[in-house]
Order: sequence, then C-alpha cells, then structure tokens
Amino acid sequence: MLGLDETNQAALRSAIKQQFRSAGAVIMKISEAYGPGKWGLSFELYPPKTAKSEKDLYQQLEKLAGFRPDFVTCTYGAGGSTREKTLDIISEVKKRLGCPTASHLTCVCATVDDLREYLKEASKRGIENIVALRGDPPQGETEFKATANGLRYANELVALIREEFPEFGIAVAGYPEPHREAPSAEIDLDNLKRKVGAGADAVVTQLFYKNENFFEFRDRYEACGIKAPLIPGILPITNLAQIKRIASLCGAYLPPELLTSLEKYADDPEGQFKVGVEFATKQVQELVDQGVPGMHFYVLNKSKATAEVLDALSLPQRLRKLAG
Ligand SMILES: Cc1cc2nc3c(=O)[nH]c(=O)nc-3n(C[C@H](O)[C@H](O)[C@H](O)COP(=O)(O)OP(=O)(O)OC[C@H]3O[C@@H](n4cnc5c(N)ncnc54)[C@H](O)[C@@H]3O)c2cc1C
Repeated sequence: MLGLDETNQAALRSAIKQQFRSAGAVIMKISEAYGPGKWGLSFELYPPKTAKSEKDLYQQLEKLAGFRPDFVTCTYGAGGSTREKTLDIISEVKKRLGCPTASHLTCVCATVDDLREYLKEASKRGIENIVALRGDPPQGETEFKATANGLRYANELVALIREEFPEFGIAVAGYPEPHREAPSAEIDLDNLKRKVGAGADAVVTQLFYKNENFFEFRDRYEACGIKAPLIPGILPITNLAQIKRIASLCGAYLPPELLTSLEKYADDPEGQFKVGVEFATKQVQELVDQGVPGMHFYVLNKSKATAEVLDALSLPQRLRKLAG
C-alpha cells in the first residue's frame, strides 16, 4: 500500500474487512478474479494440526484480510488425511472474513464416489471453487497408483467437476520447472493443456525462485494456445532449513546466489527472514512488471512475510481496488 503511513494502512485494512463482511453473499469464481482492470490475489493456507495453531491461523489471516484477497484456499492433506479439516477451515474463513474460497482436492486414496461426496459437501457449505489435483503418492510409495474406481490424473477430476458440479470455479496446478514425473517439459505442457481443456478456469503454478523459468514456461504456454490465466505461486522464504526441505520435496530450483545470501545468516533467523522478504519482493515486482494477471501466495499460515512483500510492491491496479 504505497504512500500510506502505518495508521492509514491499518484504517484502510479495517475498512476493507468491514466491506468484506458486509458483502456477505459475494460469489466469486476464480474466473472472475482475473481479466482487464483486475489483478487477482489469493492466499493458500494448510489445515493446522492443533487448536492453538488454528487460533493463530485466524489471527494471521485477519492481518492479511486487508489486502482483500480475491479468494483464500486451503490444501488437502496427503491421502485425504485432512478431508474434514480442510472443509472446516474453509468454512470458518468464509464465516470470519466473508471472502471467496477454494478447497484443494486430490484423487489420492479416493474413489469417484468419495470425490463426489466431498464435492457435494463443499457445495453445500457454499465453497465457490476447487483447486483440482491428482496429488502425490501416499507416504512410503514412490509411484502414484489410482485407487480402484478412482481417477488417474487431475484432468479427469476437472472433467468430473465440470460435468457434475458446474457451480464450482476450478484452478489446476502448473509447473514452470516441469513436474518431476513428466518425461519432458513438452509432455508436461501437453498434459496441462489437456487439464485446462477439461474445464479449468486458471492455472496456479508450483513455487519457483527463478523468474526466467516462469517466463520461458509462459512463452511456451501461450505458444501452445492455452488461454486460462497463468498465476505464479510464490512462497516468500522465511527460514533456510525450511525452504531447503520444501524445495527438495517439490523439486524447486534454488538459485545459488539466493542460498549464499541466506547462508550468511545461518545463525540469525531474522537475517534469513529479511533476505527472504527482500528476494520475494524483487521477484514479485518483476513478475508484476512483466504483466502477470495476479499472484498466489503460499502463506504457510503466517502473515508477516506476505504482508511485507505486498506492502513493498507497486501494484497500481490493486491499489485502486483497495481504495475503491
Ligand atoms: C497450486 C498447487 C496446489 C497444490 N495443492 C496440493 C494439495 O492441497 N494437496 C496435495 O496433496 N498436493 C498438492 N499439490 C501438489 C500436487 O498434488 C503434486 O504436484 C502432484 O504430484 C501432481 O498433481 P497434479 O494435479 O499436478 O497432477 P496431474 O496434472 O495429474 O499431473 C501429474 C503427472 O502426470 C502427468 N499427466 C497429467 N495428465 C496426464 C495424462 N492424462 N496422461 C499421462 N500423463 C499425465 C503430468 O505431466 C505430471 O507429470 C499442489 C500443487 C500446486 C502447484
């Protein structure tokens, strides 16, 4: 929020929160978040494990609400382990902020009937959007195997939702640094094209730290005729050990110069946080300057890093929206 001092920022955020609450019945599909004159902003949460971390989550989220996200999403745990929790968190976010939401859903350990049940329940609770995923193999397994009477790929889940639950907006995952199982970047993109063709409204990317990889991917994405908005997924680094772990799990490339800067603060958590936020601010600003239609922040249930990045950015369209 450029040009506003701390007090005014706080006042603006509080007014926006009020606006959200009074908007109440706003129905925001993912497809409505992007387009001319818009700049879609979304935050991704995960289901907390304890009552205390759940309480903390809502406090953190209130701090982010002032940025008026177009929607807030919550992940779906491996093997369906957080099924109820994901729905509960999303329902609570709706209740507290009145903001549009999306539930992630994976095909892991689920029959088509299980998926239908989940979608019915999500619909009943007024959740507007689904982030439709295949999911990773369950713990201890190296290869994804479809459950009997289940689905093999995310494109099949998208098709199921489109056919039987047309009320949902749908986002799918995209991989600027190709998905680790894909035989080649080209095949991965063909598969993404099939997934969008099945009815997805937007593609949210896996986290990445090298913008060149995103831009190169975007060129190929556009060249092969995919029209859905392509939204970068950004995780501001707050902690060196954590990002090494996350990057090794999802295969994200960590630029050596970024690692070197972080390693200088090996014994200084605040220093690591500062380096991470500065890097993310530059990274996001470059993406904005290069015309991305919005941004998805992996906030990991904390507000500080994302709030600092958003505060430092120059986002003219977003500012108009915040002020309006
Ligand atoms: C934004 C985002 C949110 C996520 N949220 C969650 C979450 O909440 N819970 C969770 O467990 N995981 C989540 N993940 C991780 C995701 O589940 C894994 O990356 C998973 O390995 C792939 O899921 P997908 O939906 O991309 O799969 P798919 O699109 O099905 O792709 C999986 C692999 O199969 C290939 N493929 C796809 N379709 C076909 C086809 N028809 N024929 C042959 N090959 C094909 C692809 O190239 C790829 O290599 C998320 C990832 C992202 C980017």
